[in-house]
Amino acid sequence: IKVKAKNIEICMGFASAFEGEIIRKSDMHAEFYSGNNPTCELVVMRNLEEIEDHKITIIGPDIDGTAPVELPLATYVEVAGKKMQADFEPVIERKVHHWFNYVEGVMHTGQRNLIRVRISKDAYAKGFRVKDLAEVVYHEVMDEFASVVDKCQVTIVTDKAKVEKILKEEGMPRYAARDERLASMTDESVDTFYTCTLCQSFAPSHACVVTPERLGLCGAVSWLDAKATKELTPAGPCQPIQKIGCLDERTGSYTEVNKIIGEATHGALDKVTLYSILEDPMTSCGCFECICGIMPEAGGVIVANREYAGVTPTGMTFGELASMTGGGVQTPGFMGHGRHFISSKKFIAAEGGIERIVWMPKELKDDISERLNKTAKELYGIDNFSDMICDETIAVDSEGVMAFLTSKSHPALKLDPIM
Ligand code: SF4
Ligand code: ZN
Repeated sequence: IKVKAKNIEICMGFASAFEGEIIRKSDMHAEFYSGNNPTCELVVMRNLEEIEDHKITIIGPDIDGTAPVELPLATYVEVAGKKMQADFEPVIERKVHHWFNYVEGVMHTGQRNLIRVRISKDAYAKGFRVKDLAEVVYHEVMDEFASVVDKCQVTIVTDKAKVEKILKEEGMPRYAARDERLASMTDESVDTFYTCTLCQSFAPSHACVVTPERLGLCGAVSWLDAKATKELTPAGPCQPIQKIGCLDERTGSYTEVNKIIGEATHGALDKVTLYSILEDPMTSCGCFECICGIMPEAGGVIVANREYAGVTPTGMTFGELASMTGGGVQTPGFMGHGRHFISSKKFIAAEGGIERIVWMPKELKDDISERLNKTAKELYGIDNFSDMICDETIAVDSEGVMAFLTSKSHPALKLDPIM
């Protein structure tokens, strides 16, 4: 493991070796969690004269008090540089996840507006405070992105109304605009896919294959981001895969993907498909936004998102599904993926696509229903497909789910068995 020795003035250790560190509830002093409070991570490009280098601003309360301290959190980073491009914003933003994790006593999961950050009791006792998070971001931006960033200022906001304002006025519109840019692109329209091996610091045999229609499973690395990463750091985590040597269009199997994934995982994997959950599916590190799993009796699949705390019709919670799915090994029948991938025409296309989806938590369903319904209409001519998908407010037990699907004449019931 590469341990970075750098001059960040914080009271805790800082190294990629701390990335796998888990902070349990009982060891935690403070938590910033999107399930309980508004959260936002945003990197924004400015003109050079608009910002002041190394300006750190904290708006709102610090983490002082009795554990557990729960607060909203916006990590708002402004960067400027002659060679900076708007396309680099999400690339820098994704690194916040890794930088926070590099801090001993800090744990980070998620991205954008869906995150969880924990600070341990030990770190708090040693004097770690929110300004240290800002220092870490500042120093790492200036270190890793020196080729494009000349100035950086970091604002940490823990005031609820202000975080909500940032989210509403800047965060959500910018996330949507980034997603929109990709919406018109298809895997057929490009000749290059990309690897992402950013998560190998804690899942050494994992690599994502990122295509226009299939973003990285963390939900934070799109094909455009991977392309920008390659430009920014030519020897970095995103390497091109020429789209040649198609073995099977249905599963999205390519000799070149297999070759590059073999190299990227140091031989741990010798083949992955792009569009199948059963045949050589992509591996998962640990930061998937969602998990898809087979529900054999329904001839379909269920999807659960990280924020969903209840049990799924597989009899397992998200956490239990995650423990079977993570770690960089192929687990046919289970697959981690990004939220956005669910409404993709390529989602488990080899098994029939989104008409196999029989259950998902209501929050997730509501979030993606517009795009999902559009895809279902285009692929199968089905109207309001999301109304046919069961959720936890209807049933989580197999019988209840089956009864609901039957009442809706869910298309999965008429398909061949999924396995
Ligand atoms: Fe990259 Fe995949 Fe990790 Fe996202 S989950 S940072 S795409 S390796
Ligand atoms: Zn990961």
